[in-house]
Amino acid sequence: MTPDVIVAGGGVIGTAIAHQLARRGARVTVLDHAAPGQATAASAAMIAPDADAGIGPLRELAVESARLYPALCAELLDRTGLDSGLRENALLLVAWSEEDERDLRRRRHRLEQAGVASAWLDPGRLRDVEPALAAGLQGGLHLQGQRQVDAPALLHALSRAAADLGVSFRSEEAHRLVIEGDRVTGVQAGANKLSAGEIVIAAGAWSGSLAADLRQPMPVRPIRGQMVGLSPPTSLLRTMCFSSHVYLLRKAAGWIYVGATEEDVGFDSSPTAAGVRDLLSGAVALAPALEQAKLSHVAAGLRPATPDGMPVIGRMPGWSGITIATGHFRDGVLLAPITAELVGDLVEHRRPRLPVDAFDPARFLLRAA
Ligand SMILES: Cc1cc2nc3c(=O)[nH]c(=O)nc-3n(C[C@H](O)[C@H](O)[C@H](O)COP(=O)(O)OP(=O)(O)OC[C@H]3O[C@@H](n4cnc5c(N)ncnc54)[C@H](O)[C@@H]3O)c2cc1C
Repeated sequence: MTPDVIVAGGGVIGTAIAHQLARRGARVTVLDHAAPGQATAASAAMIAPDADAGIGPLRELAVESARLYPALCAELLDRTGLDSGLRENALLLVAWSEEDERDLRRRRHRLEQAGVASAWLDPGRLRDVEPALAAGLQGGLHLQGQRQVDAPALLHALSRAAADLGVSFRSEEAHRLVIEGDRVTGVQAGANKLSAGEIVIAAGAWSGSLAADLRQPMPVRPIRGQMVGLSPPTSLLRTMCFSSHVYLLRKAAGWIYVGATEEDVGFDSSPTAAGVRDLLSGAVALAPALEQAKLSHVAAGLRPATPDGMPVIGRMPGWSGITIATGHFRDGVLLAPITAELVGDLVEHRRPRLPVDAFDPARFLLRAA
């Protein structure tokens, strides 16, 4: 049966889109050949719209997406019996120096202007809230009301729910787009030419090469993020704890996620000795008891980054039958539910529920002109 929509890419963005489109009654096929370096698999999966004190359309997207999470995870649990690991977790941003403290106090001011309450903790109070922290910290900013999920569990639940709604998943790479006149009519996947009324490019850091068939600038590039998993001998960490060097959070299974590097090294998704060394030394400096933890695993993912730091969500200008959703950089898990809803609206030629002008792929065309 010919699908209505082909989604190229089965990370959290492509799978959330497939799930959303299937909920709306579309016949959907997802293509993914499991490229090494999928960002979703390595993600810390914080659902923390207030971790960055940005303002404007991206913040609006982040806040709305975070709001959608509890209902989405409840729906996935209901449909599949699979738990995505959603749980409340406060955020603690710590200062090592007076300069860090000044930065955090400025951030607190911006958060207040956005209506977000936070508390400044002096060094004594800091270690009441997070006893694992090192001595000698200058203070910290404490924000309630943030969350995290388990990224692999979420992806599994989304895929199962999508499959239950009729989505077909194929282990194939979309090699190129099939174009007829000004219309994209399908994708070439190996020897197979697959046709659909609508194509969605959601191939993360790899999206640019598919979009290249449209002869339009799509400057999405990979930024490698390495992480380390640690298993401490006793339960450690109540908060998702950020210093300027590393962040630490306890995942539901009890291990500690140490993140993350940001490296512009192309499509190389191998963890490195230098990356792991920096993460471990930052982690132990922040929470000294981690010195006794067992190293459980190391991973790296390629975040899809854009020159202006904004995601790309929109129909491709000058073409019909094609929509793109990528460039979510450090926030793709957070932004997956709202991205899926916006793409659902765009594919159905409906007015998106939030303004998407700031994320329009046409902005790269204008800059290149
Ligand atoms: C270390 C690290 C920590 C992070 N922490 C957070 C966090 O706390 N919170 C948060 O919100 N975000 C976080 N992120 C960012 C988030 O993980 C990404 O923004 C998000 O996973 C991007 O999802 P995606 O589906 O666009 O890309 P990916 O997850 O990379 O998926 C893209 C998929 O496309 C497939 N593909 C590629 N080319 C093709 C093709 N031609 N045909 C078919 N399939 C193709 C690939 O195999 C891959 O599976 C983190 C990322 C990293 C690396």
